[in-house]
Amino acid sequence: MNQARGGDVPLLAEDELPPVLEEGRNGSSNFLIVVDHAGARIPRCLGDLGLAPSELLRHIAWDIGSLGVARRVAAALDAPLVAQNYSRLVIDCNRDPAVPTSIPTRSEATEIPGNVGLSVAQSAARRAALFDPYHRHIGALLDARLAAGRDTILVAQHTMTDVYQGARRSMHAAVLYNRDRRFAGLVLEMLRRETGLHVADNEPYFVSDATDYTIPRHGEARGLPHVEIEIRQDLVGDEAGQALWAARIASALRDAQHAFLRTSPLDPQGVSP
Ligand SMILES: [Zn+2]
Repeated sequence: MNQARGGDVPLLAEDELPPVLEEGRNGSSNFLIVVDHAGARIPRCLGDLGLAPSELLRHIAWDIGSLGVARRVAAALDAPLVAQNYSRLVIDCNRDPAVPTSIPTRSEATEIPGNVGLSVAQSAARRAALFDPYHRHIGALLDARLAAGRDTILVAQHTMTDVYQGARRSMHAAVLYNRDRRFAGLVLEMLRRETGLHVADNEPYFVSDATDYTIPRHGEARGLPHVEIEIRQDLVGDEAGQALWAARIASALRDAQHAFLRTSPLDPQGVSP
């Protein structure tokens, strides 16, 4: 059982999908789109983590529709995209591995038996196989862009559940940030131009060091303009919804970039003299 839970052997077999999905690396855009919760896959050696198949398709396993939206946004902007292929239930790639919920033993009301009582080695194997390669990949891409004198605006695409702990969420989407609202504020303004669209400002949650990793690590720490975007998952469950939202978001990002450049020219990787 220990070995089957990924203690002593590499978590991913050679014939399994790699952790990182990358597309459009050489795109001409200033944007980099990242999708931390794109995939619902579980490494084969971990089985189903003790969960019913229906649980593995729910929001607790992945951000439904997020990759479909992000791919279309990236294509529309000619931007590179980096996404995680494996489920957040194995290890959450938008959470500091030092935080206890990095490998959750419970998500909403669902207990995750395959995550209970892991040894230090088992947790480390998940990090080494999935978390580290993903963040190394993003870091290396940002380093390469910096070395090439290219600007970057970081966009983290997520989707959120429409019903959380019994309460239906009324917003259609949300724009999230923590220390640096410069770019996020502009994206919010652009999305809110559309009548009838309810786009929340840093609700129902916000970016923080305890609940997030990607924006603090790759956006804030490098001083890059950035935004985290949430869309309610029931709006992007099919291709039509994904296409509609991708067009909306691509247009908001484009216009936010124009507005941003008018006020504060991009400094590659943000390091001011
Ligand atoms: Zn997410």
